[in-house]
Formats: sequence, C-alpha cells, structure tokens
Amino acid sequence: MAVFVYKFGGTSVGSVERIKAVAEKIKKSRDQGNHIVAVVSAMSGETNRLTGLAKEIQSSPNNREMDVLLSTGEQVTMSLLSMALHEINCPACSYTGGQVKILTDSMHTKARIREIDDVKVKKDLDKGRVVVVAGFQGIDEEGNITTLGRGGSDTTAVALAAALKADECHIYTDVDGVYTTDPRVEPKARKLDKITFEEMLEMASLGSKVLQIRAVEFAGKYNVALRVLSSFEEGEGTLITYEESEMERALISGIAFNRDEAKLTITGVPDLPGVASKILCPVADKNIEVDMIIQNIADDATTDFTFTVHRNDYERAKKILEDICSDLGAKEVTTDDTIVKISIVGVGMRSHAGIASTMFKVLADEGINIRMISTSEIKISVVVDEKYLELAVRALHKAFELEQE
Ligand code: ADP
Ligand code: ASP
Ligand code: MG
Repeated sequence: MAVFVYKFGGTSVGSVERIKAVAEKIKKSRDQGNHIVAVVSAMSGETNRLTGLAKEIQSSPNNREMDVLLSTGEQVTMSLLSMALHEINCPACSYTGGQVKILTDSMHTKARIREIDDVKVKKDLDKGRVVVVAGFQGIDEEGNITTLGRGGSDTTAVALAAALKADECHIYTDVDGVYTTDPRVEPKARKLDKITFEEMLEMASLGSKVLQIRAVEFAGKYNVALRVLSSFEEGEGTLITYEESEMERALISGIAFNRDEAKLTITGVPDLPGVASKILCPVADKNIEVDMIIQNIADDATTDFTFTVHRNDYERAKKILEDICSDLGAKEVTTDDTIVKISIVGVGMRSHAGIASTMFKVLADEGINIRMISTSEIKISVVVDEKYLELAVRALHKAFELEQE
C-alpha cells in the first residue's frame, strides 16, 4: 500500500467549494488503496489578514503571540477538510502540529523542525483514516506553539513524508508545476517536467515562492520524492530530482526574483581593518539577516559599504546604521527599499563562460541600470529598481530562450 503526503496551499483550500473538491480528490486516491496524509495551509489571505490584525495592535508584534495567532489559520482549514471528508463517508481525523507532534526549536515565526513523532499518524493510517495535519506549525520543548515561516506548510509536508517514508510528497498549488519563471510575471514561462534539487534550492532561496526553501532542503536530505502539481487540473506536474547524467542540461533553467529586499549604503567609511565587522555585527546582533554585500574603495582611502536585507528588517537596519555612522567617522547613510533582486539559475552555467556578460548586455539594451551584482557557481543575481522587474525578467527569459516552443 502506497503512502502519500498531499499538501494543499491557500488557494487550493480558499473556499468551502475548494475544500470539498480537495476532499473528493483525497477520497479518490484513498479508494484506490492509498494511505493519505493531507497537510493544509490557511485559507488564502488568512495569514495576511491575521498579520494585519496583529499589526493594528503592536507595530512589531510579540513573536510568541504571533505564532499562537497565525497557527489558527491552518487549524480552521484542517477541521473543515476533515468534516468535508466525513461528509463523503471518508474516515478522517485532523491534528494540529503540536498534537502530531511536530517538535521544533523555539525560534518563533521561523522555527525549524527537529523531530516528528509519527506514532499517532501511523495508527490512524492503519485504521484506514485520512490524517489531516495543519501545516506551518509545531511545538517547542516547553509546549509553546511555533510557526515555520511563510510558505512553511510545504516544509511540514516534506518533513512528514520523510518521517513516514512516504512514497511521494505532492505539493498541490495554483500552478501546474515549477516554471522557468513565475508565470504571473512572464506568461510565456515554460513548465519544467523535472528540475534538480540544486536548482530548485537556488530558485527557492532567490525568491521563487512556489516551494519554501526548507522543504527543498529536507526533500534533498531525506530523499523524498517531491512533486509540484495543480490542485485544479490533472497532470504530472514537476518532479524535483537528483541530477541525472542523461538529463537535458539547459544553460539556464530558470529566473527567480525577490521583491522583499531593501538596500542600505554607508558612504565615506575610513578604510581600516575591522570596518566590515563594525558595520555588520550590530546588524547581526539584532537578528537581521544580510543578503548581498558590496564594498568599494575610493581614492581617498574611504570605502562605500552596501548590503541588502529583507524589507521587514529595513527600518531597523537603517536605524542601526544611522546610530553607528558618526562613531565610524563615515559620511552618510543612504537607503532604498524600492529595489528587487533578479537571478538566473542553472547547473549548465558551471561549464559555460559568457553567461554573466549576456545577462548584463540584455539589461543594458533595455536601459536597465544594475545596482549590485553577485554570482555563485550556478546563479547570477542583480539588484535593479523595482519598476524594471517585469521588463528585466521578460527580456532575460527571451534572451536565454526559456520560452515555450
Ligand atoms: P500555495 O498557497 O499553494 O502555497 P504559493 O503562492 O506559495 O502557493 O506558490 C505558488 C505561486 O508561486 C504561483 O502562483 C506563482 O505565482 C509563484 N511562483 C513563483 N515562481 C514560480 C515558478 N518558477 N514556477 C511556478 N510558480 C512560481
Ligand atoms: N499560511 C502560511 C503562509 O501563508 C503557510 C503556508 O501557506 O505555507 O505563509
Ligand atoms: Mg506556498
């Protein structure tokens, strides 16, 4: 008997009708003799709605209470889906992350899964029940509710699939697979039948929200067969897989972008040993993650130091820089939260020169100014003004021949 973990995202459970349709889909698979664990997200818009409520009360809400609040979104869906299954005579039982139990660390709002106790789930599956689990949440050693960061239901699903040694983990969403870029930005994007874990990891970490990065990490580490499919239509979706020698190796497999970044610069910093740490240590001390970093040396023995952070951390990072500016003997702090990062990703890049220059030429031909650049073995990222996002993505998509045939 095969064991499947199916995850249904926000849009897929966005209304009572959708929840009923999901229940039918699950029942059909169960009737074929499969064991099913269904992981659910909050109904679409709910996590944002709850976040909005919290911010009306506290501009920077208490993280522990935020987790208590946000976990309710998934709890609503799990019970409704379980009811919908009962209604069509499919035995089912729903559990919160804490009930399962999904043990995490105590990093509220971005907790990591440590261990899953699958005894309860297995017992239910053996009794022929569908087990519905609230995604995105867990519990720490002290019994506090935790959440796994935005998009975290993907990770719940993959982690459960790993713990249960499931045959496959299906991520059902509102697109029918992983595309060469977000099809909402480039309608000519092409669906990929397969993508390597390595490339998917880069795409996810560079902003493609179709899968949470930790879900991809988990799947790669624990060898979970992972597939992204549409919950609305039939199809094979996209398989995330290990690199196979016969796999057709495109130069570039995809374009990712991230609208959530902001850029901060401190200019005229005396060019002395220890300057970078003096700037970045206070930022790290406040738990702010830094992404790209650039330091330029000027003729007058000063440097300009630029880095990017998540837009949520922008105001806090700006304040820290303003506070240390005069102590450092620096000139001024300039900031910009209207930038985006666009990245091209592909394992084929390893063996080919000239990809970066092609990318820069394409952007230049469109009159797009590049503000920052960063490269690694299988990706090149640039920071540009946010108004150029669509133009840049489409131009690159075309230049690297990613369009549908
Ligand atoms: P869910 O609520 O089901 O988790 P998400 O909104 O988190 O759905 O993820 C699906 C969305 O990811 C799609 O609607 C699409 O706009 C976006 N997306 C971004 N990059 C890609 C990509 N490369 N391929 C497919 N979808 C992508
Ligand atoms: N509901 C959470 C979010 O919107 C988790 C998820 O859907 O994966 O980010
Ligand atoms: Mg998601």
